[in-house]
Amino acid sequence: MKTISNIDFKNKRALVRVDFNVPLNENNEITDNTRIKAAVPTIKHILNNGGSVVLMSHLGRPKGGFEEKYSLKHIISELEKLIGREVKFLDDCVSEKSFEYTKDLKNGEVVMLENLRFYPEEKAGDSGFAKKIAKHGDIYINDAFGTAHRAHASTAIITENFPNDKYFGLLLEKEMKNIDVLLLDPKPPTTAIIGGAKVSSKITIIEKLMDSVDQIIIGGGMAYTFIKAQGGRVGDSLVEDDYIKTAKDVLELAKKKDVQVFLPTDTIIADKFANDARSKSCSIYEIPEEWMGLDIGTDTIQQFNDVIQSSKTILWNGPMGVFEMESFKNGTVAIANSLVNATRNGAFTLIGGGDSVAAINQLDLGDKVSYVSTGGGAMLEYLEGKELPGIKSILN
Ligand code: AMP
Repeated sequence: MKTISNIDFKNKRALVRVDFNVPLNENNEITDNTRIKAAVPTIKHILNNGGSVVLMSHLGRPKGGFEEKYSLKHIISELEKLIGREVKFLDDCVSEKSFEYTKDLKNGEVVMLENLRFYPEEKAGDSGFAKKIAKHGDIYINDAFGTAHRAHASTAIITENFPNDKYFGLLLEKEMKNIDVLLLDPKPPTTAIIGGAKVSSKITIIEKLMDSVDQIIIGGGMAYTFIKAQGGRVGDSLVEDDYIKTAKDVLELAKKKDVQVFLPTDTIIADKFANDARSKSCSIYEIPEEWMGLDIGTDTIQQFNDVIQSSKTILWNGPMGVFEMESFKNGTVAIANSLVNATRNGAFTLIGGGDSVAAINQLDLGDKVSYVSTGGGAMLEYLEGKELPGIKSILN
């Protein structure tokens, strides 16, 4: 592991790719600082070991030039608060003025560059652009797990310029170690809880997980495709008809691999996709026409909870229902609490993927499970066994 733990940063400028892609409200205030907080240990480690820090990140989806709402200047005061130091913001990434500034940084200084995605070269993985930004540091550190699955200039291509001075930041290291627990060294029985809207976006991960887990719980919108595949009546629930055959194949494969699959048995149905819909519970195999399942029911919660409590290693990705609506968040909340319980009883619990992370944070339970990953897509690709460019480029 190319870790920064034993590096002497004295008189060195560490150029750190972080993931400060935080949500902002209409007043450009940060509504969730989790990602900034996650990078603090690396920043402090460098400063405490005599170095200076140049931070770079993307924010939002700018169209390729400056856009006020995506300027990283909005995050500076929060960053200063979290690291307890002044941060110098440079309003670009590659001007002579910026190079002039970072050339003679003193130990202990912290600089933040402007949004990398104001330059189309970033996403294009342009090596000329990467070479320019590389001028800001003597050592390159990647601590942006959320973008590790992208071969962008600042996340992967840039390492060409640091053949002997490229390292994983502490967050990236921690992410890999925690996901590796599930992949390489899981204590049985292991269970994956997969929810969310669509079978299509989770199918590869489900297939891959069958090699490492004993049990799979399927909830959320994607469950209805599985139920329909088994001949159930699902009314107007979310179904991907193109994936019915895939769902059948997955259930067959599970049998072959001796993986037990748990599907919901009851569901909370609604007469429209709205918080104020009329709702009631029914068997998930007998949903009336014009009604749709928007959450798991109480029997299902009980059954899933039993599986979770008897597991020793658990992954959770994706909500059990439309948890954004007060009326249909019960199942997701129950699963979150069930994971907290399991953690208390000694299980290793890993939560990843945008919506389950949002759910666990909303409930303020993030520190009551073993690990909450900062990477949605990146975590899934890592679990799928893909080589992530941001990781590969440090190792090679
Ligand atoms: P994903 O990004 O694939 O993990 O999906 C998350 C989304 O799935 C959330 O916005 C949920 O509201 C949605 N979702 C979960 N359960 C259902 C359901 N039963 N019907 C429709 N959407 C759902």
